[in-house]
Amino acid sequence: MFDLLFLLLPIAAGYGWYMGSRSVREKKEEDSYNISKNYIQGLNLLLADKTEKALEVFINLLELDDDTLDTHLTLGNLFRQNGEIEKAIKIHKSLLSRDGLTFNQNSLILQELAKDYYSVGLYDRSEKIYSKLLEQNYDNLNALQNLANIYIRTRDWEKAISITKINNNIEKKQQKTQIAQFYCELACNEFDIGNYAKTESLVKKALSENPNCVRASLLMCDILSNSKQEKKLFKQLELIVKQDIRFVTEIRPFLVNLIDKIPYKEITDFFDILISNKAGTSFDIMYSNLIEKKEGFSKALAFMDKQINANPSMRNFAHLILFYIKSSSNAQEKNNLIKLQALVQEEIKTLAKYQCNNCGFETNTLFWNCPSCHSWETIIPVRGLKGE
Ligand SMILES: [Zn+2]
Repeated sequence: MFDLLFLLLPIAAGYGWYMGSRSVREKKEEDSYNISKNYIQGLNLLLADKTEKALEVFINLLELDDDTLDTHLTLGNLFRQNGEIEKAIKIHKSLLSRDGLTFNQNSLILQELAKDYYSVGLYDRSEKIYSKLLEQNYDNLNALQNLANIYIRTRDWEKAISITKINNNIEKKQQKTQIAQFYCELACNEFDIGNYAKTESLVKKALSENPNCVRASLLMCDILSNSKQEKKLFKQLELIVKQDIRFVTEIRPFLVNLIDKIPYKEITDFFDILISNKAGTSFDIMYSNLIEKKEGFSKALAFMDKQINANPSMRNFAHLILFYIKSSSNAQEKNNLIKLQALVQEEIKTLAKYQCNNCGFETNTLFWNCPSCHSWETIIPVRGLKGE
């Protein structure tokens, strides 16, 4: 309620001026008196928390010029922000029904009405208004961006692609990233229903928009893994390392399945590339286990000893302790190390695996579109001591 009262201050000031400037003519004085009376009545109703009645008074109160329109729009905005969407819609519709609106005034009110509809999930109505504004060439940047948001919300990826392609106001790289992600969304849908040929063609479209789109390459991995094309899959994993090292952790499940199916030399060459690119703790651990299996315990321990310096992290530390537990012959020492290892593992369980580098949102699942700030490709694996 206090928000609303603050809002009314400019109305009061406006009417002070209005009344003052027109007080020379008796007829107008009478009008001003009536308006002032109505204004006080509206204010009293607001104070008494009778917003419905107050709204009626204010809607019927103002003569419309640019200043009073602003006040109405702010009032509508405030209702929307307070979740009182019906009231916001009522204000905006009543404004639209007035005679003599200029093109700009009409468009401005339509924009607000579109926001009302969007905020309650009436996306079709909101889309209709923004499409009309776009047709009329009014504030295209706003219309394009909001139409894109509507298509993303309604998961209408075809339309999201079309509208983003014509939105030249966003930075080129961001535009390509988003379009590639929309193709990936379509590709995921096709993959889920087993339409692999269509999935592959959409993956290619995504990669033609953004050749570094890891999500598209991971979808390609899914297709190749499904059809057991192991050599091609291995090549695909090598490609992802070159594409975007930030997301390379996502190749882990594919690599785990390939380890015994690819010649050892090729696998170790690949691990060497991953390690030299600081691909992450997961690969240090995976490689040390492989070395232990193929070349023996002491070589694996030496490798982990080296990696704890090259890539210090809690996960690497926990894994190194495991090696020390295995190598310890002293029962007391072994027992202490087991306790320490359990403690570190407990701490690791509390750590988020991914974080959005735009808003800081933490998660254990990789979302390509941040659920918090809705940016694309900003959630990345956590690195450093508490991460990879
Ligand atoms: Zn975010």
